[in-house]
Amino acid sequence: MKQYIPNPSNPQRPRPVHLLTDRALRYRANSPELRPAMPKICAYCGGHRNVEVEHIDGHEEHLAPDNLIWACRSCNTKKGLAFRNAGLGRRTRQYNPAASGAQNLAQWLQAVMAVKGESEQMSVADAVAMIRATPAADRSRFAYQIWARRRARRTDKLVPF
Ligand SMILES: [Zn+2]
Repeated sequence: MKQYIPNPSNPQRPRPVHLLTDRALRYRANSPELRPAMPKICAYCGGHRNVEVEHIDGHEEHLAPDNLIWACRSCNTKKGLAFRNAGLGRRTRQYNPAASGAQNLAQWLQAVMAVKGESEQMSVADAVAMIRATPAADRSRFAYQIWARRRARRTDKLVPF
């Protein structure tokens, strides 16, 4: 299936994703039309530092809004390692669109810990599907809740509860 992304210089002619380089894709993911529709804090840890647009499933060519999220560099690095350990390389994983999103903070944290290699209660692939299926407003709410809890406990560790 060919994927297209908006072309601000010529809105009538969206650009096919497969023609873009990795660098262009990263640039596009940060463009105003594609930036995640939530405040710029890390959706995985609530952190405010070094936050960038991240591709939830690890595929830079997947620019669908549900696959883009704000993440800090530290969480991004942990995710990369967890994906490698789980054998999820680029261009190998199909997204399961039937997955349901996190219904509460506990489910969200379980998925976040799984994609960061901090829990094996859920497979990395299932966690990716759950995070993608969680609407932006809920991602944002969970991120704030995590941040608030961390601040209350003055800790950098993710505390499941
Ligand atoms: Zn983070």
